[in-house]
Formats: sequence, structure tokens, C-alpha cells
Amino acid sequence: MITLVKFDVDPFANSVKQINDACDILGINDKGVREYLAMPNKMMRVKIPVRMDNGKIRIFTGFRSQHNNDRGPYKGGIRYFDPEGGVEYMEREVMALSSWMTWKCAIAGIPLGGGKGAIYINPKKEKFSRIEMSRITRRFAFMISEIIGPQKDIPAPDVYTTGKEMAQIMDTYGKLNGVTHQPAVITGKPIALGGSLARNVATGLGTAYCVREAAQKIGFSLKDAKVAIQGFGNAGTFAGEYLEKMGCIIIGASDSKGSIINTKGMKMKDLEKWKAKKGTVVGFPGSTKVTTEKLLTSKCDILIPAALEHQINAAIAKKIQCKIIGESANGPTLPEADPILYKKGIIVVPDILANAGGVTISYYEWVQNNTGQYWGFVQVAKLMENHLVTGFKDAYELSLKKKVDMRRACMAIAVKRVMEAFELRGIWP
Ligand code: NAD
Repeated sequence: MITLVKFDVDPFANSVKQINDACDILGINDKGVREYLAMPNKMMRVKIPVRMDNGKIRIFTGFRSQHNNDRGPYKGGIRYFDPEGGVEYMEREVMALSSWMTWKCAIAGIPLGGGKGAIYINPKKEKFSRIEMSRITRRFAFMISEIIGPQKDIPAPDVYTTGKEMAQIMDTYGKLNGVTHQPAVITGKPIALGGSLARNVATGLGTAYCVREAAQKIGFSLKDAKVAIQGFGNAGTFAGEYLEKMGCIIIGASDSKGSIINTKGMKMKDLEKWKAKKGTVVGFPGSTKVTTEKLLTSKCDILIPAALEHQINAAIAKKIQCKIIGESANGPTLPEADPILYKKGIIVVPDILANAGGVTISYYEWVQNNTGQYWGFVQVAKLMENHLVTGFKDAYELSLKKKVDMRRACMAIAVKRVMEAFELRGIWP
């Protein structure tokens, strides 16, 4: 039986619910199969001992969850974060995130499975030296090195990790395996080490493509459409930049320090410059500081949650005023909010599709590393666009046919694809 730990909100329980909903649509009633689809294949919890600059030893905790590899090697980011629920909560979070990666790769139509990793650490809150961070990253890479590899499990960046950490993980893995250059073990690398062009913008660009598709379906023009963005990191800023290029106006933004609104609009480049200088979007000239709830429920056409899980609950969903939600973050909407948003006629492009641009270009980075051929920005972005547009069309058709929201439609398609691979492989022995 699947045991569900009782947190106020348990992300893994949410992921299980979404799988059960998809199984209901597909008529999969076998409890064993449902459990097979829900549980990770492997969950590794590691102790990371590190000697700090002051000579003292500190122990950090890390995770790597490998959810499903029926369609290809495990794939998924590594985040450095300290969720409020602590280490035990993070374990559930990583399990859920690895499950979402499985469904994300399947709906995007790329031959990879689902994985996710994390260290319980917040480098934005606590100051670590460059050397300390490198020791933490490399020791974690060593601890998970036995289960990752170019044909096994390929990590990538996520919250508060960047190409720098990916380079260190690649280098550590290579040293441990006696190879000088093993770029295909990880994606999201700097270009100088075999990274792909367009990978840095991929998640946000993919979200913008999905929002564009949704707008077309409901006959809504993006010209002067008002956008609010929660989270101003990699996913949020590029979603904002590309939506702005498509004609939208950014009226709201936020980061961990607070949220701001200016109904007249704010230019992305100016916001980015301000954030780079001040470390936050708060205080941007002409804007008003508001609560997170005010940002999420502001009078806008498009809402981009691009921060963390569990931002949109039932109470907030009731007050949301937009037409389209493009989930650039993973798991921003609670299951209780989905039916409310659906009844209000709001199209929610779910995380597994709306932020799949990142993993799709990661897949092409891996392909380039494996073949030794390197492609241009436009070529890679076009490949990604095709995956997402096809995924969107498939899911939209199913959502109309089955009269279900886009999340259920995406999940049903993804589960069907994984089931097909699972049945073809069979259970060994
Ligand atoms: P990032 O570290 O670049 O940025 C995270 C941003 O969230 C920061 O601006 C931070 O200030 C903000 N933030 C943190 N707590 C917040 C809060 N309580 N309220 C508002 N903002 C808050 O991370 P990212 O890579 O942009 O990831 C953001 C989300 O997108 C995550 O859910 C991640 O899993 C998802 N995602 C990212 C990628 C990718 O390629 N980077 C791919 C798929 C999904």
C-alpha cells in the first residue's frame, strides 16, 4: 500500500491523486498498476559531510528520487532549498517532483523518464563561500554518482542551482569514472562545457509558447494582454520576456522578498536591471508593494506562477481573475483549486506541459552531447516548440472530448504513454 505522510499539504499525495485521476479517465482500475505508476522506483537519501571554512564539520541532507524509467533514462533537476516542512517534507517534495518529471517527459514526447534531486540548504538565506558551495555540490555528486550516468539518470538545474553546479557535478562524475569529459551525464551546463544554446531560456520560452496556444484556442489576443508573474528567477523572467515580445504587458512581479504591481505596465529589462542591482523586484519605481495573494488575484489576463509549489489554494482560486494560467513552476496549484478554476472557465496549462520546455531542450542538449554535433539557437528552440505545441493540441482535444481540465488531459495522455512502454517491457523477472 502507498503510505501517505500527514503534512498540512503533502506534494507526493497530490501527485498520487493526479495519477489516480488519470487512471479514472483511462479506465485503469488495477490497484497494483496504480501503485506502480505512483511510487518512485528508487529514493536515495544521502548524508553530505562537509568541512566548512572555519574548520568545523557540517552535515547536510540530500536526495535523489528516480521515479520511472520505462520510456528512457531518469531526468530531472537538482534544487537547493529549505522548504518550511523541513527535511522530511523535502523528501516527499522530491518524490512528487520526480513523478511530475515522468509525466512531463511523456506529454512532451521525449524518450526520458522522471527523476529529481535536492539538498536541504538555502544559499540565498545563508552565506556560504564559493569553496564551501563547491565542496557541498561535489560531495553530493559523489554520493549520488553510483546511480547517475548518461544512460541512467541525467540531472539538471532547478531552484537555486545553475550551470556552475552542473559543471561541478559533471567534473566530479568524470573524475570518479576516469573520463576527462562526460558532458551527457548532466544538462543545463554552460555552453563552454557542452551546454545547448536556448537551454537557459527554455522553460520560460516554453511557457510563453503554451500561453500563446491557449490564447489562440479561446480567440484571445496577446496584444496588450496583462501578465502577472510570481517568481522572478530563470523560469519567470524568460516567460515574462517572451510574453512581452508576443505583445503582452507585465503588470505584476514577485520574488522571495515580496510582490509588486503597476497596472500601467513595467518593462522586463528594467525590472531585471532593478532586481540585479537591488536583489529584489520590490521597490521598482512606479510600483506598489502588495501581498502574494493580491498579486495572484490581481486583475490580469495571464497569470504565471513561476516560484514554488502550493501557491494557489481553493480560497485564492475563487478570487483569481485571469483567463489563462501558465504554470512555469512545478506544482503551484493544489488539487482543491483545479475544479474551481475549471468551472470559472480559466485555462490552466499545467506544469507538466507549461514548463516542459526546459526538459525538452535538456533532452536535445543530451542528444548533442551524445552525437558530438552542436546546433544553433533557432534550430533547438524550433524543435522544442514542436514538442510543446503538439502536446498542447493533444491535451486540448482530449480535454474537450472527455470534458476535463487540461491537467487531467495531460496526465491521461502521459500515463497512457508510460503504460504502453511498461506493458511492452513487462515486469522482470
Ligand atoms: P530560480 O532559482 O531561478 O528562481 C526562483 C525564484 O523564485 C526566485 O526569484 C525567488 O526569489 C523566487 N521565490 C522563492 N520563494 C518565493 C516566494 N515565496 N514567493 C515568490 N517568489 C519566490 O528557479 P527557477 O529555475 O526559475 O525555478 C522556479 C520554478 O520553476 C520551480 O518550481 C522549478 O521547479 C520550476 N522549473 C524550473 C525549470 C528550469 O529550467 N529552471 C524547469 C522546469 C520547472
